[in-house]
Amino acid sequence: MTQTVLFLDLHAAYLELKAEIDAAVSRVLDSGYYILGPEVAAFEAEFAEYCEAKHAVGVANGLDALILALRALDIGPGDEVLVPSNTYIATWLAVSAVGAIPVPVEPDEATHNIDVNRLSSALTARTRAIIPVHLYGQPADLDPVLAFAAQNGLRVIEDAAQAHGARYKGRRIGAHGDAVCWSFYPGKNLGAYGDGGCITTSSDDVADRLRMLRNYGSREKYVNEVQGMNSRLDPLQAALLRVKLARLDEWNDRRRAIAALYSDGLRDTGIALPAVPAWADPVWHLYVIRHANRDRLQRTLAEAGIGTLIHYPIPPHMQNAYASMELPTDALPLAKQLAGEVLSLPIGPQMSLNTVAAVTKVVQNGPILT
Ligand SMILES: *Cc1c(COP(=O)(O)O)cnc(C)c1O
Repeated sequence: MTQTVLFLDLHAAYLELKAEIDAAVSRVLDSGYYILGPEVAAFEAEFAEYCEAKHAVGVANGLDALILALRALDIGPGDEVLVPSNTYIATWLAVSAVGAIPVPVEPDEATHNIDVNRLSSALTARTRAIIPVHLYGQPADLDPVLAFAAQNGLRVIEDAAQAHGARYKGRRIGAHGDAVCWSFYPGKNLGAYGDGGCITTSSDDVADRLRMLRNYGSREKYVNEVQGMNSRLDPLQAALLRVKLARLDEWNDRRRAIAALYSDGLRDTGIALPAVPAWADPVWHLYVIRHANRDRLQRTLAEAGIGTLIHYPIPPHMQNAYASMELPTDALPLAKQLAGEVLSLPIGPQMSLNTVAAVTKVVQNGPILT
């Protein structure tokens, strides 16, 4: 079956900006700066301002952003870090990479974001930090997370890899917690043409440590203060991200229009639709619906040539990568259930509203409804 509706059309996004993207590539190649330099500094300044944060530190990818944030905040071996049970595995892998222990917390059923009422039962004397994830571009409920962290002396690291431009109670995601981690993987709302990532923060100290850690633990060339990483944002990607950052609000608005059309058209179908709390201004990285007959619905859409994805089919605790945790088979039932029932419909800034209407119609007439 040929796919006539792509889940996300990255090539169309390139074509819309082709002249500017191509010019930015030439500008970097002509500049003579191929590591860090003025393009990275300019992007960092622009992205920090966009996020209402004091600093942005460009790194190689989103996973490294999380690892470096944990290291900058001195989270390490033996420490426990609260993480969502239903996130992309990168959130967990970062905690494991610094030798700490990911402690899963189940989500709120309506928003799929971390359930703030379950934090206290996951707390131990070794808990040092919490990583809320703004899943699907929907901000997590940060105020209760920040209050819980303050009461218990925990650090807050936000995984904002899906939330570029989202707002919580009117303020941009970017500096509510101690460090906010971003991915510029091509499919994200702000995506590069390869890997990229960044950490935003309003702490001078955290930013300073991050700049050292991403660059071999070095502030001064050939002087290494700590055992750092080589994880720098590429200047070519920085230049391309500057072009796309200027379009981010407009492209997020197009995603909002698509989400509104889906929500309107699928209202009375018996399918669980995304819930948006009053304080949230999401950016619709994904439009995720939920139904017990998910697999059948996905097949129906595939037969109509419509691409969908599942975010995520196997929760981290059920991956072989975490077999060593030896959790009982009935552990984290909500994460397991969501993995079996969620479906992400196509959404992206280059998707036409006519196509959205056509997809909506196929979902409405899907066999799950009878
Ligand atoms: C994409 C993503 C990451 C990892 O980003 P990479 O740049 O691919 O390393 C981390 N967390 C979440 C929630 C993501 O969606």
